[in-house]
Amino acid sequence: MMKTQVAIVGAGLSGLYAAILLEQANISYRLLEGREFVGGRIQQAGHTGVDVGATWLWPAVQPELVSVLADLGVSLIPQNEAGDLLYERAAGSLARYPGYVSSPPAMRVRDGMSQVIEKLLQRLPAAKISTGVRVTHAARADEHITIRGTATGGEEIVLQAEHLLLALPPMLAKNIQFTPSLPKDLTDDWGHTGTWMAAQAKYVALYDESFWIAEGLSGEGRSMVGPLVELHDVSVPGRVNALFGFLGIPAQSRQALGEETVLSLCRAQMVRLFGDKAASPSAEFLKDWSADSFTATAHDLMLQAAHPLPPAFPLEGEWVESLTGIASEWSSTFPGYLAGAIEAAREGVNRVTATMTPTTRSFP
Ligand SMILES: Cc1cc2nc3c(=O)[nH]c(=O)nc-3n(C[C@H](O)[C@H](O)[C@H](O)COP(=O)(O)OP(=O)(O)OC[C@H]3O[C@@H](n4cnc5c(N)ncnc54)[C@H](O)[C@@H]3O)c2cc1C
Repeated sequence: MMKTQVAIVGAGLSGLYAAILLEQANISYRLLEGREFVGGRIQQAGHTGVDVGATWLWPAVQPELVSVLADLGVSLIPQNEAGDLLYERAAGSLARYPGYVSSPPAMRVRDGMSQVIEKLLQRLPAAKISTGVRVTHAARADEHITIRGTATGGEEIVLQAEHLLLALPPMLAKNIQFTPSLPKDLTDDWGHTGTWMAAQAKYVALYDESFWIAEGLSGEGRSMVGPLVELHDVSVPGRVNALFGFLGIPAQSRQALGEETVLSLCRAQMVRLFGDKAASPSAEFLKDWSADSFTATAHDLMLQAAHPLPPAFPLEGEWVESLTGIASEWSSTFPGYLAGAIEAAREGVNRVTATMTPTTRSFP
């Protein structure tokens, strides 16, 4: 059985950043990730660098995230808002307005948010990260936690740790079977915390030319007709020209329609908004987060989007000192956001390092 001081479940931004902090603190850890790849809600369309998950940060109000990104050496660019915005208020009516400037300004990572994940990975020993392992059980006895998961091939993975960092959304953490049980109030709170953006889907279209820029458009669009309700330019400079839109059709309807139909509806809308040049994208992507069981549960599709703040650890019972939630939903200042993942991971690791002795010994 693998033994370590800290087990991290989930290799999204919070889990990977926690691993970096534990490396720096000389605390041994293992990271278990259910998907075959790391990044969680940060994902790109193919290998284009175009985000299908998280895209923006707001540096004016998120200094900690900015400093982490600066340390990783990624460059930021402003979200393009120069040019006119298109507004489709009703079928057959398309208005064009001077674009507005958001405040505080939204920025993107120049080569896509997945760059952040790649840079974090470069700083972590690959041997400490296991992908394709869905954690299902955590049992605490004799000061140790035994964590069990199932690998993609069906093999059981067992890990022993002293502390468990839950770097997965509270709603999914609740599905892990804890022995002894966690306090019911706590798991009820986790079960009522919707995973931010879990019910959303993004459509991305790549084009050989950024024809909208040439026509004085910013690529921003709003529509009351749909299926896309909010559109933006997400080009990666020097690499790809891209527009994306959030789907306004509810998740259940998207699934009933099927991907091919949704894609053709999106393409038809792009032509309505941007003209014939939008008829033949060089590639299209549809990422429906609601259909991804490593992000969304059926319950997420029924919740109103909100940011309740669930407790990150129990205040009573056997698990008090040995478990901490660090996914973005557990952040007090930016719950659900990238900045929240950084904050919650830092706070969770501080809680761990306050009670653990650093080691230079690496466990087998
Ligand atoms: C479409 C979309 C757009 C967004 N836009 C923005 C934005 O513009 N700006 C912003 O700040 N935020 C945005 N967000 C939110 C942002 O992506 C998240 O806040 C952030 O990525 C969360 O990171 P995390 O590590 O806390 O959680 P996650 O990224 O969800 O990571 C959790 C990890 O746990 C893994 N996991 C789940 N269950 C298990 C299990 N049982 N065993 C093992 N592993 C498991 C998952 O596979 C995943 O890798 C967006 C999210 C989406 C989906």
